[in-house]
Amino acid sequence: MQTGTVKVHMANSIIPGSAAAATAFATGHKTTARFLSVGPRKEDLLTGTNPTVAPYAPVASILEAAQRAGKATGIVATSRVTHATPAAFASHVQDRGMDNDIMEQMVYNNVDVVFGGGARHLIPVGESYTTSFGSIWHGKRSDGENLMAVLKERGYQFVDSRTEMESITSGKVWGLFDDSHMQPDMDRQYFAEHEPSLAEMVDKAIKILSQDPDGFLLMVEGSQVDWAGHNNDAIYMVRDFIAFDDAVKVANDFAEDDGRTIVMAYPDHNTGGMKIGHYDTAMGYTETRVEDLVNPLNGMKTTANGVVAMMVDNSDEALRASVLENWGISLSDEDLLEIRTYARSRSLSYALAHIVSKNYTVIGWTTHGHTGETVPLWMGGKRAPEHVIDNTELAQIAAASIDVDLKKTTRRLYVDLSDRTKNYTIDYNDASGPVIKVAGAILPVNKDYMIKAGRTIRLPGITVLATCGDDNPANDKVYVSRRALKKLGLR
Ligand SMILES: [Zn+2]
Repeated sequence: MQTGTVKVHMANSIIPGSAAAATAFATGHKTTARFLSVGPRKEDLLTGTNPTVAPYAPVASILEAAQRAGKATGIVATSRVTHATPAAFASHVQDRGMDNDIMEQMVYNNVDVVFGGGARHLIPVGESYTTSFGSIWHGKRSDGENLMAVLKERGYQFVDSRTEMESITSGKVWGLFDDSHMQPDMDRQYFAEHEPSLAEMVDKAIKILSQDPDGFLLMVEGSQVDWAGHNNDAIYMVRDFIAFDDAVKVANDFAEDDGRTIVMAYPDHNTGGMKIGHYDTAMGYTETRVEDLVNPLNGMKTTANGVVAMMVDNSDEALRASVLENWGISLSDEDLLEIRTYARSRSLSYALAHIVSKNYTVIGWTTHGHTGETVPLWMGGKRAPEHVIDNTELAQIAAASIDVDLKKTTRRLYVDLSDRTKNYTIDYNDASGPVIKVAGAILPVNKDYMIKAGRTIRLPGITVLATCGDDNPANDKVYVSRRALKKLGLR
């Protein structure tokens, strides 16, 4: 499938973070590290970068544009659904760590199908949810709002296991299979048998979304290939990438049958700088056999995280036993010393994966972080570019293919309220979060409705409060939809 390659730099660094990278392909705009679908700050732009949107201003995502065009929309990930990539498609915040705000925006942004992890951000602190398989998930929301109840009021089905997911055949559905992130693909069988695979989630999402006669847009993230790269864990990366590949096949099979659907697959960036070949292999590089690459990985049954989780205690004997049992490798005394030394500045699983890669495989790594080179684009159809493109162009290609206009959608959904009136106040003291008071109405932040004369009026987009990177409320900006302005008599 590979066609072009994609440049991945963000507004303030040639090596990107996931939030800014996702903002680029979700909205078509470069932004700053950690920012999600809002404009970049001015202070630290890369040389030669010209921002295409005001700092901290929300910009519509391709998912929001698809919704306005009447299409069904879905989000599937194996991380918390509030993690950077899925969040960029359905929320607008200045820091990817704002999981509770992101979750609130995702709930009120009316996505039809959401599958992944992160249920703790639906539930208030002090409350809990008992799953269909007997676990208890404790809430993390500080605003006291029970968003699981909101989803049910809004007609969503909620499922927490593969079995429950399989029973859903139509309608709006959220399936969250963990309170935080889901398991790595290869560890699911040991730690979370109730979880579906990425391919199973994609298959179900497509079956539901494709019932919409206006078509659909589905965003899927194989979230953990990146984490495997951070970990320098070769088997974790290979197995999670194969799980992603299986999901792409499900999408491709549908697209082939359907004939009107395009599939675009691309990484947000490289992580770990994984290579075949490294400094420490004993053999000359021109003597590398297939077996040298494959055999060490073939004996591995879990990720390095799994190896560490299955240690009976923190002793060297326990580490040695778990590595032998789960990876089929007998660590030497020298290996153990190297791992323990490396683990003084990194986690044990980072150290284990890194040192075993070095001593037992031909796979090299350049970093525990991200790298800045171009990444592959896999895409079929006549719109597929066969040259080097920028990651912002991915959003434009997607928009053109479903005949929507991202700029127009931003103008419809996110108008700076201060451009229309100075007569509004932001009430920060409401226990459920900030509310905007304007023209006799109340607009709760992160939500898609206003309350006027005791009536609740649904709006086409969420109200966004941008705090603009400082603690001065005088600099805060409010963004509302054009429909809201009309209902307020401010158009
Ligand atoms: Zn990363």
